[in-house]
Amino acid sequence: ALTATDLAAWLHRCAALMEAHAEELTSLDAAIGDADHGANMSRGFRAVDGIADDAAAGGPAALLKKAGMTLVSTVGGASGPLYGTLLLRMASAAGDAESLDAAALGEAFAAGVQGVADRGKASPGEKTMLDAWTPALEAYRGAGDDLAAAATAGAAAAAQGREDTAPLTATKGRASYLGERSVGHIDPGAASTALLWQALAETVT
Ligand code: ADP
Ligand code: MG
Ligand code: MG
Repeated sequence: ALTATDLAAWLHRCAALMEAHAEELTSLDAAIGDADHGANMSRGFRAVDGIADDAAAGGPAALLKKAGMTLVSTVGGASGPLYGTLLLRMASAAGDAESLDAAALGEAFAAGVQGVADRGKASPGEKTMLDAWTPALEAYRGAGDDLAAAATAGAAAAAQGREDTAPLTATKGRASYLGERSVGHIDPGAASTALLWQALAETVT
């Protein structure tokens, strides 16, 4: 099961991956958005990186809540409130648990993904981060109660979901302004979601 310290390790790993992939995220966003997704994610997760160890002292929910609020307050773009809502809903789902086993983490992710859909008024197929989250969550939950196996399955599905955004037409967010000209490009938010899953898989394996 994941303790608050393990969740902090996940968030530190997320920060490192966002930093390492900032240029790639920005160039995806340059094609169909406003070329700031790498800067947004690396700024937001650098701030999360800074608060994670102290916030983990309060337990899983306290950490997830503080991390979510930090993303909302440090990321200017659409992705800040969306990822922030994801973490805040995960915090609510975690409740007062001292640690999250594979099933509890799945429940928390499910609540978080529903939060993204509510906040963004989006559904799968609209070429957003939900097109990575949705298959990742399904694969994670289908992989059973071994956390390492489930996270690895989730990460593979998120990476595939990222690729599968390319043929979609964007109907939400900035990329929707391009209409059919968004076809052929990977969604930046789906790419950052794949990195969050990669970080999780690397943290638990
Ligand atoms: P902005 O578009 O404000 O510059 P970012 O570039 O940081 O913000 O994030 C863009 C990403 O946010 C998109 O690639 C997409 O995955 C996600 N996104 C945007 N709008 C929505 C929405 N309504 N629902 C879900 N995800 C969205
Ligand atoms: Mg952008
Ligand atoms: Mg922007």
